[in-house]
Amino acid sequence: MSELDTLIQLLAKLPGLGPRSARRAALHLIRRRESLLEPLATALAKAAEAVRPCLICSNLDTIQPCGICRDPQRDGTAICVVEDLADLWALERTGAFRGRYVLGGTLSALDGIGPDDLNIQRLVDRLKPGQELILALNATVEGQTTAHYIADRVASSGVKVSRLAQGVPIGGELDYLDDGTLTAALRARRSL
Ligand SMILES: [Zn+2]
Repeated sequence: MSELDTLIQLLAKLPGLGPRSARRAALHLIRRRESLLEPLATALAKAAEAVRPCLICSNLDTIQPCGICRDPQRDGTAICVVEDLADLWALERTGAFRGRYVLGGTLSALDGIGPDDLNIQRLVDRLKPGQELILALNATVEGQTTAHYIADRVASSGVKVSRLAQGVPIGGELDYLDDGTLTAALRARRSL
């Protein structure tokens, strides 16, 4: 198989790319050898060598522990549980959370993912009384099952457990919300 075929096959494995878009991406890269293909090859090699999951929180970084875990400005008493790295990045973009994280994944009977696969014991060991554990898991069945499981596991550890609010999005109109979201918003109402 030629180098070009190998490149196309590998690109086709990327999320969102099929064989056709992989061929277009490969052509695009080869036509921009100096401005794109070579810098990308260098960046990939460097990332493969240097980027590793943090042993404390599983965030990806080139240092161990990661920049978030070792930042003394961050609040060590608040730990946010997220499903994956994209969720961590989403929360970081807001700038609203200045605590630390743990990446967990979710329990899924369908995919055979149980508590041992998620390393929940490592999270439990890390908690100290008085800390707050924020469960920022997706509002899916798996996310909520995992949230309940973690809440049960840490119930006796003296930490305050909270989860993200569910309800009306910023700029949202009630008439356009689905019934589940509107019901959750009504149940989670709070006094002004
Ligand atoms: Zn970390």
